Amino acid sequence: MPSARRLYRRWLLKRHRLPEADWARAVERLPFCRALDPADRQRLRELVTLFLLDKKFEGAAGLVVSDGMRLSVALQACVLILNLGLEYYAGWSAIILYPGDFRVRRQHAEELAETLWEHESLALVHETSDELSGESWPRGPVILSWQAVDAGDAGQNIVLHEFAHKLDMLNGEADGFPPLHPGMHAPAWTRDFEDAYRHLCDALDSGAPVDIDPYAAESPAEFFAVLSETFFIDPRLVHRDFPDVYRHLRDFYRQDPHALMLAAT
Ligand SMILES: [Zn+2]
Repeated sequence: MPSARRLYRRWLLKRHRLPEADWARAVERLPFCRALDPADRQRLRELVTLFLLDKKFEGAAGLVVSDGMRLSVALQACVLILNLGLEYYAGWSAIILYPGDFRVRRQHAEELAETLWEHESLALVHETSDELSGESWPRGPVILSWQAVDAGDAGQNIVLHEFAHKLDMLNGEADGFPPLHPGMHAPAWTRDFEDAYRHLCDALDSGAPVDIDPYAAESPAEFFAVLSETFFIDPRLVHRDFPDVYRHLRDFYRQDPHALMLAAT
């Protein structure tokens, strides 16, 4: 990094330092953040600070977005890119928070619009409507239900999920195949993800018990997003039931939450 940029970054981090109590409270609520060692937690804090300067939060349907809400979303979003960098979230800026689940119009015949607002104004043919708790647009906003973010249901994390879609869409549409790092083997990724996905679908079809959120069987894109969120919130489950996928996710995120968990126990 050129030294002028480094100095600017240092100045930004000092000037916009997150209040200690707010930061401690936000980390305390998330076991996968608590597990990080102090150096990684400090890097995460810097990343969150820069993320908050880079992204614009908007409340929809009357929601007033508080600093605590912003910090909660930013912190979880940044866990995914702790060892990737903020540039993985480049090219868009809006995070829209609804108080609860929201109605989104999907329009399949046209290019996806840059923002929800533009998208709604198109209101054209071939629409379907769904009540959603989260949605990510290619090159556009991430839309979240604050109720879903705040609930933090066991085994689910809507922020990790939607931002995993964002990473997936860095190289085109969401298809469960994000841009891999040099040295990662794309055919092995495809083979192992396809095998695991088929295995999950077969298990669900046959009525066999599965521990992973069955929404993962919706599509390869959802499989990647659900396995990514579970990789951080319940790494033991992914490591046990999808060991090949675990290794690929470890290489992609450059993190090993299962090893971290074992070291902590
Ligand atoms: Zn999804």
